[in-house]
Amino acid sequence: MTPESYDVVVVGAGSGGYAAARTARELGASVALVDTGPLGGLCILRGCMPSKALLASSDALYDAREASALGVHVGSTSIDMPFIAARKRGLVRSFAEYRIDGIMTFPLHEGSASFISPNELRVGDAVLRAKSFIIATGSVVAPPVVPGLADAGYLDSDAVLELERIPTSVVVLGGGYTACELGQFLSRMGARVTMIVRSALLSHSDEDVSETLTEAFAREGIEVIAGARLERIERSGNEKIVRIATKDGARAVAAEEIFYALGRVPNVEGLNLEAAGVAYGPVRGVEIDAALRSSAKHIFAIGDVTAEFLLVHVAIYQGEVAARNAVLGTNEKPDYRTFSAHTVFCDPQIARVGKSEKALQAAKTSYVVGRYDFAEHGKAMTLGKTKGFVKIMADTKNGEILGATVVGAQASELIHEMIVAMHYHAGVEEFMRIPHLHPTLAEIWTYPAEECAAQLGLKAPGDEQMEVATSGTST
Ligand SMILES: Cc1cc2nc3c(=O)[nH]c(=O)nc-3n(C[C@H](O)[C@H](O)[C@H](O)COP(=O)(O)OP(=O)(O)OC[C@H]3O[C@@H](n4cnc5c(N)ncnc54)[C@H](O)[C@@H]3O)c2cc1C
Repeated sequence: MTPESYDVVVVGAGSGGYAAARTARELGASVALVDTGPLGGLCILRGCMPSKALLASSDALYDAREASALGVHVGSTSIDMPFIAARKRGLVRSFAEYRIDGIMTFPLHEGSASFISPNELRVGDAVLRAKSFIIATGSVVAPPVVPGLADAGYLDSDAVLELERIPTSVVVLGGGYTACELGQFLSRMGARVTMIVRSALLSHSDEDVSETLTEAFAREGIEVIAGARLERIERSGNEKIVRIATKDGARAVAAEEIFYALGRVPNVEGLNLEAAGVAYGPVRGVEIDAALRSSAKHIFAIGDVTAEFLLVHVAIYQGEVAARNAVLGTNEKPDYRTFSAHTVFCDPQIARVGKSEKALQAAKTSYVVGRYDFAEHGKAMTLGKTKGFVKIMADTKNGEILGATVVGAQASELIHEMIVAMHYHAGVEEFMRIPHLHPTLAEIWTYPAEECAAQLGLKAPGDEQMEVATSGTST
């Protein structure tokens, strides 16, 4: 068979691959896409969008139950899981259709891609030849490593998203963002939930973030067993028993179901990367340099298959950069200073841009921190949404904002103000000159900024009346 020739072949048509293909075509390249299907990508089919559709229902249920604090008595609440599941399926279908319409504007080869040489790829009977390749094959659920887990049976995130009935009790293994979001969903929908984590919830975050979330979960009846080591899993009648070792000794936790949420691994299976001269590992995925090139310089890798960020906006950004480098022959390097921003959609929501305090301390960066609690913030009090806090870390040298964290209502929206501020390298005193409407949740950012500025002896020019808010209620 005569090979088909392109400038760029993109392997994987998820969020990252699709963005790469579009960018390469806009630059005038001939581009083909390859995907095993089902088409749509993780975010749409089994990730961000279905999970957020389900969380909308559990959040609404929680708000209805809590409305009595605002003098609104909803009476008894009930859930209709088949309806919730059907609503989610409908949304996923429409998002996928939209994506597929876009994918179909490219030559598409449906099937599993496998390299046969550095410049040739086999897909079924077809051989595709290209000057450059962009690998964007995503990730898969990490294989079960706990003894007995595979025999006992378990739910992974794909299965939780497909539930039509909520189990009576669930043990969640893991404390990352999927574990927190879907664990809280299961709890709010009626399951008794126990979370077992090796160190702490969201262990890459600062301790005050993990602690605030753990306390909020405890108030809702979610038990978090931190500092636990998984020993083995057994079946006993209709129950699954998780045996763990903790600092207080051995413990067994029984539940109807286990939600295995110990992460994802890069999807490199079957790609035959050896034939292309592309270095990779089972955990680290395709190894790339700062400009997203693999060890074969004309082959790029982006998104989850590179195992670093596991975030959609990063996969898209990397896809665009890799496409420019592939087509223009440039050496553009993604800048993750603000792009590593991320959010967790549990309640309280969590979001961060830039550095955490942990990272600043590890890098021995000199910084000041300003912090303000939602419990002290007038607008949050009027809404009855007083969980959590905001904090800003600023450079001691010049007041530039190095990082910001928000734990609380609308954190995933509120963080964008700090992303914009950091994009423009704003300093805390410059940030204070930006108007904030009153009363809004967003104005809470002014307090940690003022606190940082006060510590640094900075004042917004012309703002003689500015007061430094370090305590007390803001109204
Ligand atoms: C439950 C859950 C919730 C999430 N929520 C969020 C969130 O709120 N926000 C966020 O930013 N991220 C979230 N994520 C992560 C996010 O979905 C991923 O980081 C992102 O979708 C990865 O995009 P990608 O392009 O790298 O890979 P994918 O979208 O997975 O695309 C990979 C594509 O490659 C194809 N493919 C695989 N192997 C081959 C092969 N051999 N040959 C050809 N094609 C192949 C697949 O069919 C697929 O279409 C969530 C993930 C999960 C699991």
